[in-house]
Amino acid sequence: MKALVKSIPKAGIWMEETPEPICDSNNVKIKITHTAICGTDLHIYKWDDWAQRTLKLPLIIGHEFCGIIEEVGPSVTHYKPGQRVSGEGHITCGFCRNCRAGKRHLCEFTKGVGVHRDGAFAEYIVMPESNIWLIDESIPSEIASFFDPLGNAVHSALSYRVAGEDILITGAGPIGLMAVAVCNFIGARNVVITDINEYRLKIAKKLGASKTINITKKSINDCYSELGIKSGFDIGLEMSGNSTAFNSMLENMYHGGKIALLGLLPNSTIINWDNIIFKGLKLKGIYGREMYETWYKMSEMINSGLDMSNIMTHKLSIDQYQKAFDIMETGNCGKIVLEW
Ligand SMILES: [Zn+2]
Ligand SMILES: [Zn+2]
Repeated sequence: MKALVKSIPKAGIWMEETPEPICDSNNVKIKITHTAICGTDLHIYKWDDWAQRTLKLPLIIGHEFCGIIEEVGPSVTHYKPGQRVSGEGHITCGFCRNCRAGKRHLCEFTKGVGVHRDGAFAEYIVMPESNIWLIDESIPSEIASFFDPLGNAVHSALSYRVAGEDILITGAGPIGLMAVAVCNFIGARNVVITDINEYRLKIAKKLGASKTINITKKSINDCYSELGIKSGFDIGLEMSGNSTAFNSMLENMYHGGKIALLGLLPNSTIINWDNIIFKGLKLKGIYGREMYETWYKMSEMINSGLDMSNIMTHKLSIDQYQKAFDIMETGNCGKIVLEW
């Protein structure tokens, strides 16, 4: 089968002929129809420090997908060929303390699809039945192909009571943008988002951000009087992985504020701890999605009107994968979907 493979340790990604995966025991084999490119895929494409530390080559990359079940293993009980599905990209052990407590998103042995094992940028992927998510008929495959990152946004936004609160989102990448739409949908009072990329801030505006702030031009508290914010934000969603952005969030939180951290901050990040301690802030790390409550919540939000159509800015054929990665590198895009 055709697959996008990271085969040699240098920048780039290559379309190669690879053996089809075998569908045994409790596994499901999916014929991929749509995939979406993640920031993680770009890290792998660029072959940065994280990718060099983490990956064993060769590896089929990609973890955001939608497809049709082609075949099921002999022990599979809940799925059959022909069903349209996506899948949770974190394969958990099922036996550690957290897995057994029903907290699979905290599994200490999590393996990432397209990172620790072969991924979805291929004609077929095989994964355990327990990781499959059936897609409602009403949801387009393009949207279903990026349920994985939407799940990150939903997991972050649902971590705290958003209704009636002022929300600050740092970072307008696809997940930050999705978080704008989700926070509005669940009744936030104000949603303010910061970035340095005008293209992405424009999308945030379309998605209903109360205020978009290019922090190279304005500071966050400039918007307080216009939005009726008295002393700072109640909830912060850190989606940038940028230490300056994170510190600007800490500066602008109200006392007792709560923060969900999704962006991967560099280990060298220096924090003004006074902001956390004297303001009594609460911090929570987000890795992936709650299995499978986040999947349920996001499906039903989409079914009841959460609009994700503005998130997808490019739809290309898989033959144009190089162009897709070139666009990703410029940062002037929302979600890029590839049709197989
Ligand atoms: Zn992703
Ligand atoms: Zn586990």
